[in-house]
Amino acid sequence: MESIGAIQSANLSSDLGQTMPVLVAEDNPVFQSMLRSMLTKWGYDARITKNGLEAWEAMQAADAPRLAVLDWMMPYMDGVEVCRRIRTAAHEPYVYVLLLTARTESQDLVEGMEAGADDYLTKPFNAQELRVRLRAGRRILDLQQQLMEAREALRVQATHDALTGLLNRGRVVEILFAEIARSARERRPLAVLMVDLDHFKQINDTHGHQAGDAVLREAARRMQAVTRHYDSPGRYGGEEFLIVLPGCGARDGYVQAERIREAFAREPFAAGGESMAVTCSIGVSSSDACADGEACRLIREADEALYDAKNRGRNRVARFVSDQPSAESLALTKLAKFSEA
Ligand SMILES: [Mg+2]
Repeated sequence: MESIGAIQSANLSSDLGQTMPVLVAEDNPVFQSMLRSMLTKWGYDARITKNGLEAWEAMQAADAPRLAVLDWMMPYMDGVEVCRRIRTAAHEPYVYVLLLTARTESQDLVEGMEAGADDYLTKPFNAQELRVRLRAGRRILDLQQQLMEAREALRVQATHDALTGLLNRGRVVEILFAEIARSARERRPLAVLMVDLDHFKQINDTHGHQAGDAVLREAARRMQAVTRHYDSPGRYGGEEFLIVLPGCGARDGYVQAERIREAFAREPFAAGGESMAVTCSIGVSSSDACADGEACRLIREADEALYDAKNRGRNRVARFVSDQPSAESLALTKLAKFSEA
């Protein structure tokens, strides 16, 4: 009984609980003070404006109310126009609009609803009716909020790796494509790192998969701690990570990679109550100004450099070196030949 009573009183006081801001636009001083005292009594934070223009300006604020009570007939801009503007601006989160109207012709109501009003009330209105209409509006706003949160959670789920919280493979590759296009457009360099934990299978075999997972999480944390906020580290595969470094050429890419290698090697990892040394090998590829569609080449070259780092004993960074001589080295060769001649 006690709990039911508690729930009921919680429901009854739900429109008194928080002071939700409500924008009121009303040019009639009598209605203004009436709305102010009613809304305040019901626990709303009433923000009164005296005409449509003021109301529209108030709606531009960052903390603008999400609930609006707009009088239809007002100087400078009427309530229907304010409503139309709110809808055109496609406010997110949604703004719930209740129109107050002295008109009764159905054609007028159609116009108001078509402008995007959610509900209307004909003046003079009954206080209790306004109260329940506002509560219905709040319920819709609450649902919309939950929907937005669910959508955001889905977006995070679809783009992030559940274990490490880093971007997942699909998303980090998508970012690589976008950054290559930007690099081509702005003629800025771009570096790609392929990071692979050394002897990870051994960690799993010796300490178990839970310890392995803890190591992956800690690896992600250390990588994030040393990358710049506009870099994009992502989990590429099991113990392999791809990091996109916008604005970094070969040298900066190498420096960033060294920083990550250092962050791993500096102190042992704690996993499953044990402390273990974990190192990584990193391959670096870069382009001074990308051409569109270079994603595959950069990934392949970072991968080749990574294998080079592994072959040379692990816990190291290797830069991709092209078999093809660079324009610079070709020029030097020509110069050498010229001076020989
Ligand atoms: Mg009016």
